Amino acid sequence: MTVSEKVHGYILESSWIRKMFEEGDRLKKQLGAENIFDFSLGNPSVEPPIEFKRALREVAAEEVSGVHGYMPNAGYLKTRQVVAQTLSRDHGVPLAADHIIMTCGAAGALNVICKVLLEPGDEVLIPAPCFVEYRNYTDNANGIAKFVRTNDDFSLDLAAMRGAITEKTKIVLVNSPNNPTGKVYNDASIRGLGKLLEDRCRTYGKDIYLVSDEPYREIVYDGITVPSILSAYRNSMIASSYSKSLSLAGERIGYLAVNPAISNIEEVISGLIILNRTLGFVNAPALMQRVVAKIQGVTVDVEKYRRKRELLCDGLSSIGYEFIKPDGTFYLFPKAPGGDDIEFVKALTRRNILTVPGRGFGWPGNFRIAFCVDDSAIVNSMKGFEDTFKEFRQ
Ligand code: PLP
Repeated sequence: MTVSEKVHGYILESSWIRKMFEEGDRLKKQLGAENIFDFSLGNPSVEPPIEFKRALREVAAEEVSGVHGYMPNAGYLKTRQVVAQTLSRDHGVPLAADHIIMTCGAAGALNVICKVLLEPGDEVLIPAPCFVEYRNYTDNANGIAKFVRTNDDFSLDLAAMRGAITEKTKIVLVNSPNNPTGKVYNDASIRGLGKLLEDRCRTYGKDIYLVSDEPYREIVYDGITVPSILSAYRNSMIASSYSKSLSLAGERIGYLAVNPAISNIEEVISGLIILNRTLGFVNAPALMQRVVAKIQGVTVDVEKYRRKRELLCDGLSSIGYEFIKPDGTFYLFPKAPGGDDIEFVKALTRRNILTVPGRGFGWPGNFRIAFCVDDSAIVNSMKGFEDTFKEFRQ
């Protein structure tokens, strides 16, 4: 075998997702992209705000000598200072530039964190449904991802969490607002999780870290706010990015934030900075660091996503689909009529509607609709959603 056994396993595991994308690609070529309703990719569809475009032009016009050279691996001090100010305000915890490391998106931040904290065989507990890539990030650091089911409404099941923690648990990785469910874990559950981890740390005589992946923090609806893990638990870190809040997913700009009260803070931060240099990427993109420093607090027009959520939820619920209305993100995770997510997603594909089976997110029986698409795609796909629903309900 040319590729390693591990990589061969990745290829086999992802083959059904790949097949689906290939099928979508084939359909687009055959029928024209405008005739395919592609709800499979979470690629932000709302354009970056005007403030971003202005800041980008300003930064490009600045004459600063040495600006294209190497930089500190944690990122520019100025950028880390303003990110720290923003987070201090949003989380009610005083952070300084030293607690921030600019990263290649939230994905870069999570890989750096896993590599710094995990010994081979350490467990990472992840409430499911969850983002499909977590397993790979954990595996990259030779850890073991363990999915823990949430409640039926996708809220945190603290009793299940308690039961899943062992002496091998090193990280609990939560994602709220959640991909694929859109759920925001409420304040009581985050505080409860903090207390549970404190208790388990005492039991096992070791540190367990709470990592919060929150690239969708700003994409929330109905006045919901996302509770802060930094104020709920001492040994905590945030991974985040501007991929969704500013629609900059391709620019690879994000950050990680370390709780100032974390154990052995100097060692942890030194480790994170080294890994931000050696994992295959070296610091976060310079141009984008300078741009986001100028537009802290600016976000895309979330109202546009809210309108899409209403269009989709109203349409599907009048057909009879069952789902929990998302608190945030641009994903909906309905039950697959008939119960078999793969068969149902295949049937939707036959009507030129592309979605993703729930088992890819550790939750068979549901399927994910990414509604970051044109409003017209939502409206025009309803007939296909209705016909497929009827086919499985006969
Ligand atoms: N975490 C979640 C839950 C995501 O949905 C994504 C991307 O879709 C990422 C992390 C990766 O984000 P980034 O593009 O900032 O690396």
